[in-house]
Amino acid sequence: MADTQSVVSDVKLFLERLKKEMPEIFGTAETPSAQTDGAAPAASPANKVLYNGDLFEARTYITPDQEEGVAFDGTVFHVYLQSKDSNPSALVTQWLRDKAAEVLPQKTKEWAEKIGVEYNRVVLKDQRTLWASCSSQKNINYSYRIVKMPTVVQDYLVIHELCHLKFMNHGEEYWNLVGQFSPDYKLHRRWLNEHKDAVFEDINIALTPDNTQEETTVDKPQENSERP
Ligand SMILES: [Zn+2]
Repeated sequence: MADTQSVVSDVKLFLERLKKEMPEIFGTAETPSAQTDGAAPAASPANKVLYNGDLFEARTYITPDQEEGVAFDGTVFHVYLQSKDSNPSALVTQWLRDKAAEVLPQKTKEWAEKIGVEYNRVVLKDQRTLWASCSSQKNINYSYRIVKMPTVVQDYLVIHELCHLKFMNHGEEYWNLVGQFSPDYKLHRRWLNEHKDAVFEDINIALTPDNTQEETTVDKPQENSERP
């Protein structure tokens, strides 16, 4: 009954924010330490991907012989790049868009059957101010960024839009209907309110220092000339 998924996500994102704002209490202050050779930290807080309400590390690899792309293994986003001029943020953003195009129409179909409503079609947009909307032509519009949310919150948004096919308002009857299919909707609305900045934030991934060293190594300068 209690929605542990969005609560756990809540806590994780809160800790991540705290890490950024008060690195000293986590012992992860990013001041260059005397013991290291001044290398940047392996995973800066920026190199994280919010997906299904969780923050995952992103690692980049320069693999000129391989097609560019993203592989998610459940723990880490592995981003394969042709060169250090490639754009890892764009690749991960496209991965999230593809995931949205797969997941959101499916969820909409399933919930529409349960609620007993018919819609016209699902349209994915990059709405920066709106998670989702429902048109009078019965089209359901979603921001692809919804896949960053915990899946229970994703479901709530789908239910929210589909219930508008019965009530085109936010009246008492409408919320009663939403509550039948998403009993914890108040928690989910709170999650959305508290995390909208994280959801609307653009993906920001820099090259992982470890994997770019081959490209920038200075002890064998002659060998770099093989690259145009
Ligand atoms: Zn609404």
